[in-house]
Amino acid sequence: MELLKQKIIQEGIVLDGGVLKVDSFLNHQVDPELMMEIGRTFARLFRDSGVTRIMTIESSGIAPAVLTALELGVPMVFARKRKSLTLQEDLYTEKVYSFTKREESEVTVSKKFLAPAERVLIIDDFLANGEAALGMARIIRQAGAEVAGIGIVIEKSFQAGRGKLLEQGYRVESLARIASLEGGKAAFV
Ligand code: 5GP
Repeated sequence: MELLKQKIIQEGIVLDGGVLKVDSFLNHQVDPELMMEIGRTFARLFRDSGVTRIMTIESSGIAPAVLTALELGVPMVFARKRKSLTLQEDLYTEKVYSFTKREESEVTVSKKFLAPAERVLIIDDFLANGEAALGMARIIRQAGAEVAGIGIVIEKSFQAGRGKLLEQGYRVESLARIASLEGGKAAFV
């Protein structure tokens, strides 16, 4: 997506450890028009995939996920992150290691908002090592539902995530694919 690439070039800040900060349009302040275009693009890519629900993880996945859901006319649920949790029977729970926070958290989705017959499109802001997407995929499978595909706003293609998701047979569509962040600059695939 050309508009997204331009935003990354103009506003992205490269931090140590291969982290791209895009808090002016995605991770803190949100650009609604860009999110609308992102939602339209994901909807176009996955229109024929029989999607019944969108799933993301709080908090930065919510904006692109809700606009994709709006375009596809389906509900959106976001997995919640908590540090520790007493087991609750009405929740699906998986452990997910966070790339940016460098800690493991439990992510949960209420059983009320994920039914066995569903086809779920996973949307997330970034793909690095694939932990967040794989955690969501495990939750979807726990429910007896199916992963319809994975839509990523910014993929860091120099990390292992894409390979892991493809290995498991998932369709991955990323709107911007970053080949390198070397020298403090984003280079695209
Ligand atoms: P993964 O689970 O694929 O290793 O990492 C993806 C998750 O970590 C995303 O949900 C995102 O919140 C966060 N993340 C990973 N890399 C970056 C990055 O370079 N910049 C930002 N802002 N978030 C990232």
